[in-house]
Amino acid sequence: MKYDYLIVGAGLYGAVFAREAMDAGKKVLVIEKRDHIAGNVYSEKIEGIEVHKYGPHIFHTSDREVWNYVNRFAEFNRYTNCPIARYKDEQYCLPFNMNTFYAMWGVKTPQEAEAKIEEQKKEAGITEPKNLEEQAISLVGRDIYEKLIRGYTEKQWGRPCTELPAFIIKRLPVRLTYDNNYFNDLWQGVPTDGYTAMVRRMFDGAEIRLDTDYFSDRAGFDAVADKIVFTGMIDRYFDGQLGTLEYRSLRFETEVLDCSNYQGNTLVNYTEYEIPYTRCIEHKHFVLREQLDNPKTVITREYPATWKPGDEPYYPINDEKNDALYRKYRELAEKDPKVIFGGRLGGYRYLDMDKVIALALSDVKKYL
Ligand code: FAD
Ligand code: UDP
Repeated sequence: MKYDYLIVGAGLYGAVFAREAMDAGKKVLVIEKRDHIAGNVYSEKIEGIEVHKYGPHIFHTSDREVWNYVNRFAEFNRYTNCPIARYKDEQYCLPFNMNTFYAMWGVKTPQEAEAKIEEQKKEAGITEPKNLEEQAISLVGRDIYEKLIRGYTEKQWGRPCTELPAFIIKRLPVRLTYDNNYFNDLWQGVPTDGYTAMVRRMFDGAEIRLDTDYFSDRAGFDAVADKIVFTGMIDRYFDGQLGTLEYRSLRFETEVLDCSNYQGNTLVNYTEYEIPYTRCIEHKHFVLREQLDNPKTVITREYPATWKPGDEPYYPINDEKNDALYRKYRELAEKDPKVIFGGRLGGYRYLDMDKVIALALSDVKKYL
């Protein structure tokens, strides 16, 4: 065998695995079907502005090992994510905090806000939330659910909130303080020279073949390495023999505007159902103030989309049916000593970047 590891996919998981394997003296070949490295964290310059091609990416973590790790490959700015939500002609701060409650109800103290939420929760008669709608109402009351959650969530997932699992909404912080920071983590930021540069440094010294799909010559690729690290779709690896896992897809529409500051914020969420996109990203604001003298700006509107085989799989749909099917694929995976499944597609789970890095670091310890 020419290589110790064939790494399929040049995303974050593949990059960390490759880095650690090379540092341990192993020989790796990386293949990537897209024409660039970095997977979904890929960013590129348009009009001098770093554009996040596959959706806005904010690095946040409370894991010291992961934070120290990424800082070896990039310098991070102090970007703090504070999205704005627009509902018709109204505007609110996210995540749900005292600024949101004040704008919604005119309440100024945590006690008043708590009482308002409690009153709306009582009116709805919810004791044990059974679905996303009930979970949302018991967290923030009916008004916020109707204006800021229902439309956004139903666009995002293409299903009524009453048919969605409660856990989706549990990720969002609810705070009785005037704090618009979207994340609770200890560390947060964006690499000052972009994610692609960070991932390129992780891959330093690796042999990478772009525009190369593993399935274009499966037998050939299997023959070059002792082990395969596969970060694509686990069901596709097994030829869908047990059935097809489902995903939700996205479509991004990017525009360059002759305007130095279009919306005054990186993220504006459009929470009403009638507007087909969920959010608008103005990329220059990731870089704090330095870019405002650029007379142009780049914006991206993010449209949720149904997924069919062949489309880009952005979000796994972790309902009972898909999770049960995934468990069956896992059983197959455990019987195949040649392959290690990694990353968000290999594990059929939504994972933030820090979790993907932590997973890759722990897998490397396990397998090397
Ligand atoms: P990927 O980045 O998907 O990499 C897998 C790679 O494998 C891809 O490049 C793919 O082309 C390649 N591949 C697949 N099949 C094959 C094949 N057959 N042959 C060759 N190559 C193949 N995380 C955060 O922490 N903060 C955020 O703000 C954030 N925002 C996000 C916003 C959106 C819209 C989305 C979808 C995700 C977001 N994430 C965020 C999550 C983040 O994108 C992931 O954690 C990360 O990209 C996962 O890395 P990965 O290596 O597992 O997968
Ligand atoms: N959400 C919402 N309104 C918003 C933002 C988020 O209802 O303005 C809900 C929605 O159900 C979404 C979930 O919160 O799926 C998680 O949002 P987050 O921004 O964490 O998810 P991401 O879009 O990054 O996957």
